[in-house]
Amino acid sequence: MSLSEFNIIKQYFSSISTKENSPNIHLGVGDDAAIVSTPENKKLVVCTDTLNEGIHFPLNTSAYDIAYKALAVNLSDLAAMGATPKWFALNLSMPGINEDWLTGFSTGLKQLAGEYQLDLIGGDTTRGPLSVSITLAGHIEGVTALMRSSAKVGDKVYLSGCTGEAAYGLACLSSAATINDSDKYFVSRLNQPTARVSLGLSLLGIANACIDISDGLVADIAHIAEASQCGIELDSNIIPLPAIADKEQARQHALSGGDDYELVFTVAPARQAALKQLISQTDLPITCIGEVVAAPGVLLLDNGRSVGLSRTGYEHFNNK
Ligand code: ADP
Ligand code: MG
Repeated sequence: MSLSEFNIIKQYFSSISTKENSPNIHLGVGDDAAIVSTPENKKLVVCTDTLNEGIHFPLNTSAYDIAYKALAVNLSDLAAMGATPKWFALNLSMPGINEDWLTGFSTGLKQLAGEYQLDLIGGDTTRGPLSVSITLAGHIEGVTALMRSSAKVGDKVYLSGCTGEAAYGLACLSSAATINDSDKYFVSRLNQPTARVSLGLSLLGIANACIDISDGLVADIAHIAEASQCGIELDSNIIPLPAIADKEQARQHALSGGDDYELVFTVAPARQAALKQLISQTDLPITCIGEVVAAPGVLLLDNGRSVGLSRTGYEHFNNK
């Protein structure tokens, strides 16, 4: 690695850490590998996610937003397990050295890392097409994580927030029209998604199964159904819609648009009271959108009648 690449790491990436986690970091950026320990009685939880230019973010996305989103999507994966995020590694491939870009990128990374007191403990920096891959690790208490496979027949299905907003943000960016003030909200949902980390933690002991919505509401709910060997019926009239004028477009985005990073989770009848209390303590809207049933698959119901879906979600190798 050339000196300038070492300097990049030193200047932009070696300071993204906070004191709070330090006792468990024995070695961070600078050696061949990092060394960390997890607190006693906790299990290590690890996830990784990659953002490629033109696929996971549009070509003209700011460096700040690319970094923010790369970390947010990983935070969302740990949120969906009910885990507490702690450390991350950054694999950055970029076509060349652009100091303005690196400043924006490291500022976005530092901002979100600071919010969650995360430490950057290592990574790799290479020349190539713009691609950001983050590996995030954290821990979970000695209780069962929120797995996709734990839904039970009779559970109610809940959604945090609203899906389809990020997809509408992308549609705004893709259209020739200029972005107006109300569009800006949707674009920010695309570029700076909010991982539901504290909700995930609160759902431990309440939810049976959980998943974060990255590829589309119906597509990701289908993963719970499949992993749990059951079915899920959704009430299409209850699913929250993005606040846009075209209701059919809103519905399509809500059902199949990707990139929202909301949580879908299932809750047994015996845990409804605990959930109700949790809902009363949070500002985040949580909506019951369906129920877990025995017959496999995901069924979308409109006044009890099954309605079809033309496109359920984003799939990298199939959908184009
Ligand atoms: P190696 O030759 O062993 O792959 P590198 O020269 O790639 O090591 O990296 C040197 C140190 O800098 C390592 O500790 C590595 O984890 C860290 N590092 C490299 N790139 C990044 C990055 N983008 N963010 C954080 N740390 C990084
Ligand atoms: Mg390396």
